[in-house]
Amino acid sequence: MTTTLPSAKNSTSAAAARITGLGKSFGDRVVLDGIDLNIERGEVVALVGRSGSGKSTLLRILAGLAKADSGRAAVDGHPTLAFQEPRLVPWLSVVRNVALGSPGRRNRAAAEAKARAVLAEVGLEDRADSWPLTLSGGEAQRTALARALIAEPTLLLLDEPFGALDALTRLSMHDLLLRLFAERGFGVLLVTHDVAEAVTLADRVLVLDAGRIVEDVVIDLPRPRAHSSPDGAVYAARL
Ligand code: ADP
Ligand code: MG
Repeated sequence: MTTTLPSAKNSTSAAAARITGLGKSFGDRVVLDGIDLNIERGEVVALVGRSGSGKSTLLRILAGLAKADSGRAAVDGHPTLAFQEPRLVPWLSVVRNVALGSPGRRNRAAAEAKARAVLAEVGLEDRADSWPLTLSGGEAQRTALARALIAEPTLLLLDEPFGALDALTRLSMHDLLLRLFAERGFGVLLVTHDVAEAVTLADRVLVLDAGRIVEDVVIDLPRPRAHSSPDGAVYAARL
């Protein structure tokens, strides 16, 4: 299967997030020192920076899990955040874990029906009734991605989501992310340690240092395309 991705430059641009002058300190440690950043729908923005530079703090603020001290973050719709560890609830089945991400989760039957549909999108329909502890690392991360997608986010926040996976599983996750992105057209803010991953997946790579965005590099390469290898494993690559 070949998927050509929409270019952010060609699509009608719509805001996923508008961030101005965002500041955050913990005690007297200034972690974010005036962040200005716009993310459009249909745009993948990668964020790199040393450990402790404030990347997770920025994502947590955008997800509504932490409060900024100053500035403004206007995020469209329900932003959702996925982490390096899938953080699944071990005593709930895969489908019920995904349903937890649904804004309509109180209607359990409807939420679980939608969860099954999203699980099919990430290639996990046959694991819907499994227990999280029986999943491989890649399957657990797909489940976490499904839990993030069920809210139909305009902005998908990913905090080193592929960091703990082996290299081949990471490539198939890249492919999955690119396919979902092509189909759904959300904006992505992806925190990664892996500069090659950032360049492969992103339209722009930001570098966070000393609380500020010190580089904002446009990746002027053709969009990566998803393709399947003869043995059925799926890879993402710039062709
Ligand atoms: P990164 O994700 O880039 O590694 P973080 O955003 O996790 O960085 O952390 C940035 C800094 O803020 C670190 O020095 C960290 O110790 C500190 N920090 C993060 N969260 C808290 C918190 N809840 N209380 C106190 N300090 C925190
Ligand atoms: Mg972090």
